[in-house]
Amino acid sequence: MRIDLHTHSTRSDGTDAPAGLVAHALAAGLDVVGLTDHDVMTGWDEAFEASRRLGVAVVPGVEISCERDGRSVHLLGYLLDPANPALLAELDRARSSRATRLQRMVDLLAADGIPISQEQVAAQVPAGATPGRPHVADALVASGVVADRDEAFRRWLADDSPYYVRYYAPDPARAVALVRAAGGVPVLAHPLAARRGVAPTLALVEELAAVGLAGVEADHPDHDERARRAVREAARHTGVFVTGSSDYHGTGKPVRIGAELTHPDVLAAIESLGAGSAVVRP
Ligand code: AMP
Ligand code: FE
Ligand code: FE
Ligand code: ZN
Repeated sequence: MRIDLHTHSTRSDGTDAPAGLVAHALAAGLDVVGLTDHDVMTGWDEAFEASRRLGVAVVPGVEISCERDGRSVHLLGYLLDPANPALLAELDRARSSRATRLQRMVDLLAADGIPISQEQVAAQVPAGATPGRPHVADALVASGVVADRDEAFRRWLADDSPYYVRYYAPDPARAVALVRAAGGVPVLAHPLAARRGVAPTLALVEELAAVGLAGVEADHPDHDERARRAVREAARHTGVFVTGSSDYHGTGKPVRIGAELTHPDVLAAIESLGAGSAVVRP
């Protein structure tokens, strides 16, 4: 069984619509795909419909943007209740803060002579999608200023860029509690992708495991072998499971869907813990 538990659609910063993403999963030989858009769950219904039509199981999820010590931390939540009021309120707050933040970033870029406007960025954000830096990158690609998202990030959009603006994001321990309270299964996403350092990261896994974290991503395109080993070791030490996922973003990143996979026993563990919604099986 081929299982990829972390992907993005046009409801956030992926480039495939939810149904197209499920079709892509089928073409790549996947049996199960997790849909985990940033801070939004509105893609689920379209993915479920495609699941039944195309014969690929869909694990509903979300990737919650969190912040700890001024740095971005991503928490995946699976099988949560999409109508949980506390969770929805937190995601709404994050998305509206993201919209304001993106406008400020565009103002800073434009004031410094980088050719970009609010209108050009707005044109890149599909209706109802969670706005993010990749949409600024897409506007720069559309006007021919850069070749791809990666070049835009390298030149102007990275976390340590002078144009970077923060947005409201909950602490990861609070997000773990919100996911649990919504009947979901919290999994820490790509903890070693952001050069945060092994020691503080492993301390975070330990801290979050004590308040309900169920798993952590080990096999991820942004983790080298050393990072994967360190995450596995932390997972063994704290008793959480490990997942593997592509973090597919369509044409927005070079990674292929299904490039990293999760063991079927881990999906079974997620299903036994998840109480807010269910895996949709065709
Ligand atoms: P934001 O959530 O708006 O701060 O933007 C972060 C998102 O940008 C991440 O979720 C990635 O999907 C995307 N991203 C980060 N670095 C790159 C890159 N070099 N190329 C393409 N996308 C990137
Ligand atoms: Fe993303
Ligand atoms: Fe992420
Ligand atoms: Zn992601």
